[in-house]
Amino acid sequence: MLHNIFDSHSHYDDEKFDTDRDKLIPHLFRSGVSYIMHAATDEESSAFGIEASQRYESFYTSVGIHPLDLDKLTDSTLLNIERLAKENNKVKAIGEIGLDYHYEPFDRELQKKVFASQIEIANRLGLPVIVHIRDAIQDGVNILKELRPKGVVHCFSGSCETAEELIGIGMYIGFTGALTFKNSKKARRVAAIVPKDKLLLETDCPYMAPEPLRSMRCDSSMIAYTAAVAAELQGVSAQEILDMTCENAKRLFDIR
Ligand SMILES: [Zn+2]
Repeated sequence: MLHNIFDSHSHYDDEKFDTDRDKLIPHLFRSGVSYIMHAATDEESSAFGIEASQRYESFYTSVGIHPLDLDKLTDSTLLNIERLAKENNKVKAIGEIGLDYHYEPFDRELQKKVFASQIEIANRLGLPVIVHIRDAIQDGVNILKELRPKGVVHCFSGSCETAEELIGIGMYIGFTGALTFKNSKKARRVAAIVPKDKLLLETDCPYMAPEPLRSMRCDSSMIAYTAAVAAELQGVSAQEILDMTCENAKRLFDIR
């Protein structure tokens, strides 16, 4: 059985897990999953991640506010995020943060400002960032180049040139089950050229289940299918991809 899975981006606070979350997570840790990173999207989701990380030894979390959740931003949100990160040693990243210009209407300036502020929190605390960029790649790259955090651009959907630019400033590149989809030519081209020490795998669960499970609710064990595709592109075995991406995630998130 494939093992040593590090799911670098998950959302087990999603309501799709409400019926069986407490059984599912321990089951995953017995089914080839070694580590799970929760990607927080707002303050409530950050609190969920901290609580789960205290319950399960190999469960880690980020804290942060997602660009599509900025309607929940209050005067205390960023202070609270920084405090949570400081006070909890299983908070290993600030995320998921970034820019999303996909859904109208959005406030571009506010998104940029909150993205930059959260990168500054990460830089102050020496933590990496988990970055979400959708339909905003150039603005995203510009901010990352200026502020130079450590981190990962998750569910990467940009070009090879953009990936190379990001790798050039030390960023990791994360791939979801979308890599296995038939229409994923662009992502596959990128996954083939990312240096082995900059590649991460993730689910973004409950969404993005890989082929051939695409219509199902996704969970961390399904990374095995994504690893098989990444392995083919990188010319190694699926287990080697899982071992490498696990090491990469542990290095990025400072997990020993
Ligand atoms: Zn996500």
